[in-house]
Order: sequence, then C-alpha cells, then structure tokens
Amino acid sequence: MPNLRGVAAGAAIGGAAFSVWLLTDWGGHAVIRWVDDLGLVVFSSFAALCAATAASRAQGKDRLAWWAMTAGVAAWLASQLIRTYIHFTSDSHPFPSWVDTGYVLFLAGAGLCLVFLLSTTPPQTQVRMLLDGVIIGAALFGLAWVTVLQTVHSVRAGNPAAVAMALSYPIVDIALITVAVLMLVRAPAGGRAHLAWLAGGLTLIALSDTSYAYLTAVDDQHFHVIAIGWAWGFVCIGLAALVTCRPAVGGVTRASSVPPRLSVWLPYLPVVLSALLCTPMLVDGLGPVFVAAAVTVIAVLIRQFLVLGENRRLLAEVADRAVHDPLTGLANRAVFSDRLAHAMALHDRHALDVSVLVLDLDDFRLVNESFGHRAGDMVLVRVAERLAGTVRASDTLARVGGDAFAVIMMGDPAAARDIGEDVVEAFDRPFLVDGQELRLRPGVGLATTASGQRCPSADELYKRAEVALEAAKHARTGRLVVHTPGMEPGQLVPAPTGCDTGVGSAQLLAELRSAIEQGGLSVVYQPKFDLATDEIVGLEALIRWPHPRRGLLGPDQFLPLVRRHGLMRSLTSVVLTAALDDAARWHALGIGVPVAINVFAPAITDPHLCDQLTAALDERALPPDWLTVEITEDLLLDNLGKTRTVFETLRAKGIRVAIDDFGSGYSALWYLREFPVDEVKLDREFIAPILTHPASAAIARAVIGLAHSLGITPVAEGVENAETAARLREYGCRIAQGFHFSAPLPAPAIQDLLLRQQSVDGQEPAGTRRSEIELMQ
Ligand code: C2E
Ligand code: CA
Ligand code: CA
Repeated sequence: MPNLRGVAAGAAIGGAAFSVWLLTDWGGHAVIRWVDDLGLVVFSSFAALCAATAASRAQGKDRLAWWAMTAGVAAWLASQLIRTYIHFTSDSHPFPSWVDTGYVLFLAGAGLCLVFLLSTTPPQTQVRMLLDGVIIGAALFGLAWVTVLQTVHSVRAGNPAAVAMALSYPIVDIALITVAVLMLVRAPAGGRAHLAWLAGGLTLIALSDTSYAYLTAVDDQHFHVIAIGWAWGFVCIGLAALVTCRPAVGGVTRASSVPPRLSVWLPYLPVVLSALLCTPMLVDGLGPVFVAAAVTVIAVLIRQFLVLGENRRLLAEVADRAVHDPLTGLANRAVFSDRLAHAMALHDRHALDVSVLVLDLDDFRLVNESFGHRAGDMVLVRVAERLAGTVRASDTLARVGGDAFAVIMMGDPAAARDIGEDVVEAFDRPFLVDGQELRLRPGVGLATTASGQRCPSADELYKRAEVALEAAKHARTGRLVVHTPGMEPGQLVPAPTGCDTGVGSAQLLAELRSAIEQGGLSVVYQPKFDLATDEIVGLEALIRWPHPRRGLLGPDQFLPLVRRHGLMRSLTSVVLTAALDDAARWHALGIGVPVAINVFAPAITDPHLCDQLTAALDERALPPDWLTVEITEDLLLDNLGKTRTVFETLRAKGIRVAIDDFGSGYSALWYLREFPVDEVKLDREFIAPILTHPASAAIARAVIGLAHSLGITPVAEGVENAETAARLREYGCRIAQGFHFSAPLPAPAIQDLLLRQQSVDGQEPAGTRRSEIELMQ
C-alpha cells in the first residue's frame, strides 16, 4: 500500500506548482505551452497509475470499475501525448480531429467506472439514482446552455461534427458529475472518501471541458489556464483510487438505512437554481404560458419537498427501530451481533482482547406476574439505566432478549472483569417499582478472548459467556462467573424456575434471598424424648423466618419458594451451620445431644453434600453420629440407586440417616429393607389415629416391631397427648417427639432445658419437666 499521505502531499505540491506556473505565465507563451502539455501528461499518468494500483487490489465490481477508469485515463493520456507531439511539430490544434478520440474514451471509461461502482447498490436505489441523475443533468444542462453552450452552438453552427464534439464533452461531464455526486451523498459514512475525490475530480475536469468548448468557440487564446482544472481533476481521480486501497478500519459496519438529508434534496437544488437563472432569460419569448409552467413546477417542487421531509422522518423512525430496542433504547441483538463480529475482526487483526458479558435476571417472570407487565417494563428500563451507568461509554450495551442484556468490552480483560463485578454490585440496591422496593438478582457470565483458550469466532465467545451465565444461574449466588477452559454447556443442571403466582411472591423471593444470605433466618429445635426416661435424647433443627413485616414465618410458608428457586442448598447450609454451632457449644458445656437436620430429598444426591457434612462436623470436632439427616420418605423413589449409595456413604462416615414422615405418603415397608437407615420417623398422620382406630394401631405396632427387628430406631412424631405417648411406650417405641413433650424452641430455651435436665440428674418424673417446658412456651 503506497503511503497515501506522502503521495497526496507530492501530488498537491505538483498541482500547486503547475497552477502557479500557468497563472503567472512564467517564461512566456512558448514555455507555457510545454508546461501545459507535459504537465497534463504527468498528471494523467499519475491518475492512470493510481487507478491501475486500485484495480489490481480491488475485488469484484470495484476491480472492473478501476480497470475502466485506468483504460479511460490511459486513453486521455494517449491523446495528450499525440497532441503534445503535434504541438511540438506544428502550431496548429485542429478541432475536432481524430486526436480527440482518447479524450472521448476517457469519458466512456469514467462513465463505465461509475456504472460498476453503482452496480453494487440495490436495484431500486439504482433506478432512483438514474432518475435523479436525469433531473439534475437536465437542470444543469439548461443552466449550461443559457450560460455557455448556446454560444458554442451558434458559433459552430456550420459544422455539425464540431457542434457534436464541442457539446458532448460538457454534457457527458454533467451526467458523470451528477451520478458521482448522487453516489457520494447516498454512500454510508466511512465509505465516502473515494467517491468524494472522484466527484471532485470529475467536476474539475467538466469545468475545464466546458470552458475549453467555450473558449475555443469564441477563439480566446487563454485556454492554458484551463489545464489547471484538468491537472487537479486527475490528481483527485488518482487520490480517489488510492483511498480505495486503504484497509477499512473502525466504525460500525451496519449502515443506516436512512438516506442522508442531502441526497433527498440534492436533485431539486439544480432544478431550482436553473429555474431561477433561466426564467429571466426566457420569459420574454414565451410570456404567460412560461410563467404558468414555471409556477406549476415550483408548486410541484414545494409539495415534493414536504412529502420527502415526511418520508425521511418516517424512515428515520423505522431505521431507529431496526437498531434500537424500543423499550430501553439500548442497542438490539442485531446491532450487538454486528459489533461483536467487528470486535472479533479487530481482535484477529490487532490482537485486541474482547470480553463479552451476558446477564439474565433471575425470576423476572415473577415480576410480571406479581406486578403486571407495565411494572415489568419499568423494571427493565431501570435495569438498562443502571447497566448503562456501570459500563464504560466505549462498551456496547445491548438488550438481547426479554430480561437478558449483554455487553461487549474491548481491551484489558481485568478491567472487563472489574466492570462485571460492578454490574453485579449494581443490583445490590433495590429497584423502586410502583412505590415498592424490589430486589432483583442477576446471573452474570463473562467470557474473554484472553482466557488462554483460542477463541475462533464471535459466536464461540458469546457461547462461552452463556455457559458462564448458566453456571452463575445454577449457583444462584448472584456473583459473576468467568468462563474458564473446560467449562462445558449442560454440565450444570439449571435451577428450577419459579412458578409462584401469589401477589408479592417476587418480592418475597427477593427478601428470602437476602434473608438466606444475610443471616435473616433462624433455627429452632424440637427435642426428641426417650419415652422410658423422659430425657431429651436428640434435637431436630427446624427453620424459621422472622420476617420484618409478616411476622414469624414457618417452613410451609416459604419452603415451596426455596425449592422452586433452587435455594435449598443455601438453606441447608444455614441450618447445618446453626445446628452444629449450637451442638458444639452445648457439647462443650457438657450438655450436648445429637442434632438432626432436614434435607430436601432431591438434594441428597448433591455430590458435595456428604463432604460438606463431614467437613462441618470435623471443623467443630463433633462425632459424626451426632448428626442425623432426615429425608422425607415420599421423595426417595425418584432416584433409588443413587439415593441408596448416598445413604451408604453417609452411614459409612458415621452420619445417621432417618426416613422422615414415614406413613404420610406412599408408605411401603420395603423402604425399610431397601434403604440402609438408622431411624424411621413415623408421621403424625400415622401416629394420631392409634388411640381411636384399631387397624392403625395394629399397623403402627407392627411397623415399630419391624423397625426394631431391622435394627432401625423408630421415632414417633407429632405426639400431642400423654395417652398416645403411653400407647407408644407400650408398643415398644422408645423415642417420641411432639407438642406433648415440647414444641420447637429457640436455642437459648433449649440450652436452659438441657442444663436443667443435667442438674436434675434425670431422676425427676417426666411430668415435672414437661410442665417446665410448658411454662417456658
Ligand atoms: P418435619 O420434618 O416433619 O418437622 C416436624 C414438623 O411437625 C414441624 O413443623 C413441627 O413444628 C411440627 N410438629 C412437631 N410436633 C408436632 C405436634 O405435636 N403436632 C403437630 N401438629 N405438629 C407438630 P414445621 O417446623 O412447621 O416444619 C414443617 C416441615 O418443614 C418439616 O416437617 C420439614 O419437612 C420441613 N422443614 C423444616 N425445617 C426444615 C429445614 O431446615 N430444611 C428442610 N429441608 N425442611 C425443613
Ligand atoms: Ca424432620
Ligand atoms: Ca416429619
């Protein structure tokens, strides 16, 4: 690629020197003639060389266009060389003559060049441009006729060939300028430079051609000055050719579909100009008819202007919609893809790093369901504003789906990561919707070309960001996840999505999340009593949510939400930590008893659960059999084989396993055989009827006996009265739990109970202890 600036500067200096020489008439007539002729040889050679360079580098239609221009300029050069030779040998310059063929061929070559350049535009645009060309050309011709051409015509009236030749130059020139200017104003920004040089060059050549036709007709000998126009014309054509050799850089590749304002008005400007200038000259001869026609034309033009203005406004609106998301005003998916492809091209060419962040709001559907779609839209607008305030001005922020946003960031991947963290943080503040504060949590995934893993395409980079997003959504921690090599799609089971419909459930969910994260939940303990000794032999940890407005919420009020939104794992961690902390403290005080936690059945197959439990016990130096995991029976069937394996693993580590709520669902005795468990908790539904229903009593008795014979400890749940307790004792059940003994109590109350139990040395009648508990409740 030739150094464009250097060549342009050289050509400009040459052009300036040539102009000064001719204008100052330096050296007199004889010298000027040589400077004129040889100067034009040099400038046309320059143009031919540049056009040939452009042709050899261009592709497709552009290549043909520049070859046509090369041929045209070469023909002009040939004619100029012959003319120079004729000037050298004689002083005559006959017009017209066969020498002019090259000049005519130049016009043909330039015309062909424009036709090829034009053919890359859509067919409708081509037709419109040609019609615009006819309008402008006719108007300019009218103008040229009344000013110059009329004189040329009348002077050469006797010689039709001379008339044709003399007029054909300016007329063809006018047509060429018209097409070039129309192409220029219609071209997208960034693709205009070569057309501007071309239009400029053709205009200068046309001016010289027209002046030449005029001056030779009136036999004025000053036409050396005209050579300045030709010289600069060729300089411009040469530069137009060189500009096309430049590689395209920067900018958005998507061109706006709204034509520039100038391209709409331009065809009419010469018409108005021509009408204004020609009317005074012609009005005399044609009188009122001409005036009426002129008024009609002007009225039609004004109407046309108004329609065009309106069309343009509508087009602008449509074009805006094509690139912007109408709700948030951010770039839409199409623009995002376009820019990402462009960013990746820069990455390939200049090794610039590209990072893509994708963000998706958790449970946004709930916002729509609970607050309505108008509020949902408002939330999206607020989210867009918050994101726009977080990313840099140079980043591309787009809304790529309903509640999905994406950002392209160029350059330093560490900075991109920081922005990712800022984006997450931007959601720490609640959103205000209809006067209510709403907490939203986003899933945010980031992928960068600097990950150490080659990224072949824009699609691949986006896909990686989506995989990271998937991981972020699965974790549901609201943190940023950065894609790392080896992270594969589908490795992570997506968290279940919400289906709550209650008004405010979105709000509740948001509050629940922050309660889980910020220690807003509490744990109460329901003691398990030994029916023989009335001693507390264990504690079951049960979750509670002391809600700031709704009061103390029990598990049935928020566990469904926890389950549906994949928060169970975090909740289990909260309960485990609290239960084991308390157990360790009581253990240290010498009043410790084993604790039980409830684990949501599907979570039992969580590969980390076992390690998590063991680590938590080890941390507090608690013996593993001080922890019991209670799993609800009716959900065990889901994954029989795996569940059994997990049970075995837990038990192998010494952790106790209990089947919860036995008898409440599809109880089947074979569970007891199939699952290696330590404890079976007989559900309240199973226990309550034993006093009134003999068959139930018989079944309960049988199950208790069966459990014993299988080495499983039966625990009766929901014991609400002394009679039931007595009957259970009779059936051989040793351990029971229920309101008759104690409701679930907070840790301090449990601690008092345990201390009291220790101090009374286990000798007091059970009734005494129960009444103590009742007093505390
Ligand atoms: P569960 O595991 O069967 O817990 C026993 C439930 O029965 C508790 O309800 C307890 O308050 C209640 N209860 C205890 N004694 C009696 C009684 O004599 N009569 C009656 N009518 N009810 C009694 P709670 O605390 O509301 O818990 C309900 C369920 O929520 C639990 O049933 C358990 O399945 C679940 N849950 C509680 N905490 C957690 C937890 O931390 N994690 C998981 N995954 N589930 C939990
Ligand atoms: Ca339980
Ligand atoms: Ca239970």
